[in-house]
Amino acid sequence: MTKWVYSFGAGHNEGRADMRNLLGGKGANLAEMASIDLPVPPGFTITTELCTAYYDNGRKYPGDLDAQVTAALTLVEEAVGLRFGDRDHPLLVSVRSGARVSMPGMMDTVLNLGLNDETVLGLSKASGDPRFAWDSYRRFIQMYGSVVLGVDHHRFEEIIESAKIDAGVTEDTALSPEHWQQVVAEYKEMVHSDLGKPFPQDPGEQLWGAIGAVFGSWMNPRANTYRRLHDIPASWGTAVNVQAMVFGNMGADCATGVCFTRDPSTGEDIFYGEFLVNAQGEDVVAGIRTPQPLSKLRAKPGEVSMEEALPAVYEDLVRVRTTLETHYKDMQDIEFTVQQQKLYMLQTRSGKRTAAASLRIAVEMAESGLIDRKEAVRRVNPASLDQLLHPTLDPKATRKLISKGLPASPGAASGIVVFNSDEAEMRAAKGEPVILVRVETSPEDIHGMHAARGIVTTRGGMTSHAAVVARGMGRPCVSGAGGISVDYGAQTMPCGGQVVRAGDTITLDGATGEVFLGSVAMVEPALSGDFATLMTWADGLRRMKVRTNAETPLDAETARKFGAEGIGLCRTEHMFFDPARIGVVRQMIMAQDERGRRVALAKLLPFQRDDFRDLFRIMAGLPCTIRLLDPPLHEFLPHHEAELADVAAGLGEDLDVIRRRADELKEANPMLGHRGCRLGISYPEIYEMQARAIFEGAIAATEDGGAAPVPEIMIPLIATKRELEITRAQVDKVAAEVFKETGRTIEYSVGTMIELPRAALTADKIAENADFFSFGTNDLTQTAFGLSRDDAGKFLPQYVEQGILPKDPFVSIDIEGVGALVRIAAEKGRATKNGLKMGICGEHGGDPASIAFCEEVGLDYVSCSPYRVPVARLAAAQAALGASGDKTA
Ligand code: ADP
Ligand code: MG
Ligand code: MG
Repeated sequence: MTKWVYSFGAGHNEGRADMRNLLGGKGANLAEMASIDLPVPPGFTITTELCTAYYDNGRKYPGDLDAQVTAALTLVEEAVGLRFGDRDHPLLVSVRSGARVSMPGMMDTVLNLGLNDETVLGLSKASGDPRFAWDSYRRFIQMYGSVVLGVDHHRFEEIIESAKIDAGVTEDTALSPEHWQQVVAEYKEMVHSDLGKPFPQDPGEQLWGAIGAVFGSWMNPRANTYRRLHDIPASWGTAVNVQAMVFGNMGADCATGVCFTRDPSTGEDIFYGEFLVNAQGEDVVAGIRTPQPLSKLRAKPGEVSMEEALPAVYEDLVRVRTTLETHYKDMQDIEFTVQQQKLYMLQTRSGKRTAAASLRIAVEMAESGLIDRKEAVRRVNPASLDQLLHPTLDPKATRKLISKGLPASPGAASGIVVFNSDEAEMRAAKGEPVILVRVETSPEDIHGMHAARGIVTTRGGMTSHAAVVARGMGRPCVSGAGGISVDYGAQTMPCGGQVVRAGDTITLDGATGEVFLGSVAMVEPALSGDFATLMTWADGLRRMKVRTNAETPLDAETARKFGAEGIGLCRTEHMFFDPARIGVVRQMIMAQDERGRRVALAKLLPFQRDDFRDLFRIMAGLPCTIRLLDPPLHEFLPHHEAELADVAAGLGEDLDVIRRRADELKEANPMLGHRGCRLGISYPEIYEMQARAIFEGAIAATEDGGAAPVPEIMIPLIATKRELEITRAQVDKVAAEVFKETGRTIEYSVGTMIELPRAALTADKIAENADFFSFGTNDLTQTAFGLSRDDAGKFLPQYVEQGILPKDPFVSIDIEGVGALVRIAAEKGRATKNGLKMGICGEHGGDPASIAFCEEVGLDYVSCSPYRVPVARLAAAQAALGASGDKTA
């Protein structure tokens, strides 16, 4: 015989908190609370297994269920001393659904079940309170009618409304027993005429009707949709809880309420909640009456707290609060009811909270010794830290929404609308806060994006250029705001029925994708306090180092502030886009021969040297991986005639010659074209200049007594051992030259990106010439899948939606495929050089799931954009702890 029914509170408790899979969250915790002697009305839980069996059996119950329910109900009757269906003093029950995870879309709770035309009279007499009895009966018909029988709930509300008008009162509680009796009569009539049969009077039929409705609701369309969106398997099933009623609607010494053991928005250790006197069930959240605060401290003028209204019960509740927190060792979300000064607990679960609250609660619980530091580090969801690292809109501020796009990069920003990048840079240089608004962005907008406080694009998705670059820079960004149409010519952006002009102020919230007119007040992030404490604990627990991807001094400084332990990727080409340099870069590209190129490169050298010197100084002795030029040269090419003419003038060449040269540089597939080390091999002078700038910059950084830099020079897009041999020799040659010229030496190393499948598969050979590997998982993903990230927007979202891919492989590493290449390369690399240093750079370095994978493969560090550094520090600690799932926030 299978046990389908578990009792709680009825003399013995058959369940426990850790039986949530079988009993659902609500049932498991009711049993747990009863077992630690909290006042829980007795009841029983029908298991989730029964739900599964019911569906497997063509929606039929197993034969032995009836007897088990009857036996469990008898135990409840004995515990309470009342009988279900008794005419003189009936036992009433609630029927409540409860899956493993709380799930909207499931059946709502039915209260006061067991009432009918006879038992209502018994209840009235036994309680001596006809108002209460008839109020309970009308509530029951209303809930059962809408939840089980499917009558539109508005029909019931209409009847109450007209009853109140007839009686000349505004509050439900002001209706007399006679009024409620009248309402009940009208309810029954309405249900009868709607359904063509009378409202069920037999308590047994009512009970099975409600149980059936809970199991039936597991497969309703709302629940199915919710499960699909949240990856909840249909096989989990729901449980049903049947529980003796307690009554919060018996008068002024009764109440019902909900509370959190700590403030769920700030995490502050104060009791937080609301209650209503003389109310039942979810009246508190229904918004019909205004709930009052629990504690006196929280009461505003005119409010009466529970502490004042029901002081003795409040004391009991405060004790329960401590008991529950000590027992569960986590912040709890509690539902309770007070019947004639006696407190009853009806639910507890781990409470939902903001990122800030999650942090504070974890830290304070560890400091008070309730949990240990490891557990505190495990408790906070790394991804949620994102919310804390950027200024956010003040929740209290007023705002006027003009459009909603995608939440591409978190944070909030206000500024004046500017439609092009040069102007954005110019105005920002004058100290004006700028929001760059573009249809879409391209590599040429980098300086404008950098200068801007925030970016809005009207096209593009979450992996568009704007989104990726903005996240990297830590700039808030809303992409694909289709409600805005940009008119570059007129310098306007019509949206939401109005026209915003260049120079007007707007505000964007990159966490929600919203764009507002005017400026909205903000609150700055606090990196001290709990945040700093938890981060220190995390740092003590992790094995992998966390570095940052940074090119500019600002990014490097930000990253250090966030705890970066070096630079994992400095993309030197970003330094080429600077308006002061792009002209010289173009001269270098357009030069007809090596001599011409060298002339231009000589002009670039001092710029790069200063850049590197500044980065090294900021990083003060921490390792810095600098990648030599990677993208195809055409990315730097002039686009308009005017720019072409500029280059022609600068080089003293014919415009036609320049135009022809530009055409020659065009490639059919630049991603797989003349880029990376292939450039360094064709034009050794480019890598030579960069190497020289690095060494000279490193020496310059030490001149004022700064710590000796640790440059790690990284050659991109290596596919073969020979490529690395050649380019490495160039670098070593320049190093020797510079050291000889200056009479100084600097420790350095030369390594490579592993970003092509061939490199991964021949990593043992490549390792012979490499001092380190850095996994460039962006390109490795592109080349392993054979898909270009810039074109993936057309089909990748659909792939994820249809489940062809579990996640966007550019966001979270594809462990099965790309991950296999990483594993192979790591093993082969180590086989050649024991202890070969390895890290990961690229978007995945800031993704917690990918970081867990890096820990498993044994990488030495992860590198990510500055604003993701704290996320990575925490995720790396959790990875080291082997933490998985079990995150409450
Ligand atoms: P939900 O899952 O929507 O929170 P619940 O099953 O917790 O639904 O029920 C909602 C509310 O109904 C509870 O918070 C409580 O106020 C009330 N309730 C449920 N069962 C009982 C009961 N046995 N006695 C009194 N009130 C109850
Ligand atoms: Mg509810
Ligand atoms: Mg509840």
